[in-house]
Amino acid sequence: MPTQPLANLFRPEVLSMSAYHVADASNFIKLDAMENPYSWPEDIQDRWLETLKTCPINRYPDPTGRSLCASLRRSNAIPDHAELLLGNGSDEIIQILLMALAGDATVLAPEPGFVMYKQIARSLGLNYVGVPLTAEFELDLPAMLQAIDQQRPSVIFIAYPNNPTGNLFNAEAVKTIIAATPGLVIVDEAYAPFADCSFVGELGHYPNLLVMRTVSKLGLAGLRLGFLAGPAELIAELDKVRLPYNINSLTQATVGFALENGDFLARQTQAIREERNVVAAALQALPGLTVYPSAANFILFRTEQVPADQVFTNLKTQGILIKNLSGQGGLLGDCLRVTIGKPDENQAFLSALTASLKTAGD
Ligand SMILES: *Cc1c(COP(=O)(O)O)cnc(C)c1O
Repeated sequence: MPTQPLANLFRPEVLSMSAYHVADASNFIKLDAMENPYSWPEDIQDRWLETLKTCPINRYPDPTGRSLCASLRRSNAIPDHAELLLGNGSDEIIQILLMALAGDATVLAPEPGFVMYKQIARSLGLNYVGVPLTAEFELDLPAMLQAIDQQRPSVIFIAYPNNPTGNLFNAEAVKTIIAATPGLVIVDEAYAPFADCSFVGELGHYPNLLVMRTVSKLGLAGLRLGFLAGPAELIAELDKVRLPYNINSLTQATVGFALENGDFLARQTQAIREERNVVAAALQALPGLTVYPSAANFILFRTEQVPADQVFTNLKTQGILIKNLSGQGGLLGDCLRVTIGKPDENQAFLSALTASLKTAGD
């Protein structure tokens, strides 16, 4: 913390925060961040590099990303009546949304959930309310409705599928929440490529519903592009807070190219979905674990006999990096989250895990 009087320059909530920590993954098999493990086929790569040659990087980017928006609409089946807001990752969309709110606004989300909702709300000095999920990681509808009634949140975030639990909440419960809240409901579909359900088809049925998506989990995490789809009059307000040129030219050109040649991405996500079933079955066959169902590209599991901290550290000594959630406590006590990688990476993870559970049992 800066010494006085410089510390007085910062809001107390900023001084009390910690920066978002990203683990150093060098030399590890990296299964901690929900990345697509596959690179691009060579012929696609060659054609992509050709298109980049004509990208005018001496000029500012297209401020509205018109061509990219058209590709996103087509590949995500966005209805014509919905407008789009583009963000430098969906993290930036969350920030734009929350920056546009009144200063005393309340932000609500089920917990455990995606940590950036709380992190960004806090950094902006907004009230944040987390409503616990049930022990099965399902929405606690009565608790949600009570919190909506008492807290009058301006925004509710619902990740569908949820991170870090991996499950899809009951869709009827989500609809009840959308209908009951006077504020905005953002259904965060970061894991849409791995799920068969979506609220995109509900756009237009509720005046307060917006759907947020990203290309990160699809396989383009390095490009930083997310978008929000919803009623034009809401998007128009949010667009005033967005910085001009927030989506750089290389990202616009590359995401556009990737979506227009999207068959290879569809094949990769299909391979990841098949591997998810392989890994889930293998985890279920290991004694001493509770494995949670997943509609995403990761699996959450709980260690029942050995502390998760110990398993996590042991995996690291074997060169495997996953995510340890047990520090978050509550419903996530002794929980670990593994991202689905390539088949050989998954097998390396499964044998390392088997070994770490055995060593601990000796
Ligand atoms: C990964 C993730 C995001 C962030 O995506 P970016 O577009 O990479 O910023 C948003 N929401 C959820 C639930 C996520 O898991």
